[in-house]
Amino acid sequence: MAITKVWIDEGCTACCICEEICPEIFKVTDECHVQVVPDLNKFESAIHDAVESCPVEVIKIVEV
Ligand code: SF4
Repeated sequence: MAITKVWIDEGCTACCICEEICPEIFKVTDECHVQVVPDLNKFESAIHDAVESCPVEVIKIVEV
């Protein structure tokens, strides 16, 4: 499985947990944004941790 896409659904509370877990991918200002990186899979484990840690479950990924 390879992560091909990461996005944030509506409802982010800007709690910053995802940015603390994986700042290379997640940037939180007034809401969370996914940063463009060339190889998402370099951060696969941290992205999964962020998905599981988001308190409102708005981090979405596509794996193929
Ligand atoms: S962990 Fe979830 S709610 Fe918190 S900033 Fe990230 S996307 Fe938003």
